[in-house]
Amino acid sequence: MEKLHVMFFPFPGQGHLIPMGDMARVFSERGVRVTIATTPLNVAMVKGRGSTQEIEIVTVKFPCAEVGLPEGCENTESIPSADLVLSFFKATALLQAPLEELLLQHRPHCLIASAFFPWASDAAVKLKIPRFVFHGIGVFALCASECLRLYQPHKNVSSESEPFVIPHLPGEIHMTRMMLPDYHKAEGETEFTKALQAIKESEVASSGVIVNSFYELEQVYAYYYNEKVIQGKKAWYVGPLCLSNEKGKRGKQDGVDEGDILKWLDSKKPNSVVYVCFGSIANFRESQLGEIARGLEGSGQQFIWVVRRSDKGWLSDGFEARMEGRGVIIWGWAPQLLILNHQAVRAFVTHCGWNSTLEAVSAGVPMLTWPVSAEQFYNEKLVTEILQIGVPVGVRKWARIVGDNVTGDALHKALHRVMLGEEADAMRNRAYKLAQMATTAVQRDGSSYCHLSHLIQHLTSIAS
Ligand code: UDP
Repeated sequence: MEKLHVMFFPFPGQGHLIPMGDMARVFSERGVRVTIATTPLNVAMVKGRGSTQEIEIVTVKFPCAEVGLPEGCENTESIPSADLVLSFFKATALLQAPLEELLLQHRPHCLIASAFFPWASDAAVKLKIPRFVFHGIGVFALCASECLRLYQPHKNVSSESEPFVIPHLPGEIHMTRMMLPDYHKAEGETEFTKALQAIKESEVASSGVIVNSFYELEQVYAYYYNEKVIQGKKAWYVGPLCLSNEKGKRGKQDGVDEGDILKWLDSKKPNSVVYVCFGSIANFRESQLGEIARGLEGSGQQFIWVVRRSDKGWLSDGFEARMEGRGVIIWGWAPQLLILNHQAVRAFVTHCGWNSTLEAVSAGVPMLTWPVSAEQFYNEKLVTEILQIGVPVGVRKWARIVGDNVTGDALHKALHRVMLGEEADAMRNRAYKLAQMATTAVQRDGSSYCHLSHLIQHLTSIAS
């Protein structure tokens, strides 16, 4: 029989390119023929540096000019300003015709496309190819967002800071309007509500859903999701996909030599360093970066801090010299998996992007949560209230560009809470246990290993 052939089509953002690249490598290891379709700029990100897997990568041109985006703006990280986010999403919808051409040319047995591409189902239907939805976010966030969409509890509170409970969601989770994006709170039908509706419909119409999480982590919500959200449609929990990857060999070229950073970490005592990184998209104002520097310095803790810019004007005079030996700034891109999995790392200050969250869970590292946008405020709830392996850095608001809402003093205090004392030890112990569960899930006969085997069997049966 002909080998099973699967085409992956990730959304052009690190949060999708990285886990789908990981998943493609796992499929390939299990004997599946894999093709990844993406745009030229994103090839390096899905490829996985140093990977020896045989993965075919095919490219489509990203329609920048058609929607007024500058040339080369092919992923969420390269969007030059917040005003162009909507144009970027519009451009992704124009990828439908090139995707159809690729499907026609390569004739895979099935298509696994990111949830953010609802129209991929139409493309697949036209070519009679089953389409599976890939979710780059966890199942708790999927359930929370669906309950908010359906029941709109934020409409019943009188201020941005008054808490409300998310109706019908197990666990009595409180949120405030501050944590929701403006477009979510807007009256009537908006571009955003239409997009959410389209994603929901394409999920229900798809041949099944694949989630980068593991069953034991979000069991109650996996049950709720299967029963109430996708109404019995098949869902496979195949994560954490980061555990299937050789440590550090993913994403972009690092802004630091891996050997140097390992040497630095090796020189530190176990559990003595905080790692600070806010993913690939979050943008902070210079004044807020200055407060982070103040908080790190004031805390007395050792740190690795990833800053996604090259100018240093906002740093107080002599900061780097004063921090010599105690703290390192990585300018650009860090080997995050390598760092999180080092025994010297005690805590992670994170924006709660789903990949970062899952990577911290897999490494057994407690978190200081600083969500910024997207579904990150739901992930914070999972980490701090349900799993209890983290504490919030303070009260914050959903924002495209993060202003001065966390002072250096607040950061300094929160760092102590997650690094030192009984509460920190209890979080660390819970985080260790979850990391063991994550490792078991991806090993032979573990839940994610079995879900993946069932998924491949299922795809093979519909292909024949
Ligand atoms: N990442 C990394 N080095 C960096 C910044 C990010 O390796 O300096 C990786 C991180 O390990 C994760 C991904 O980029 O796999 C970011 O995804 P996430 O969902 O956490 O956040 P997003 O960038 O989508 O907001």
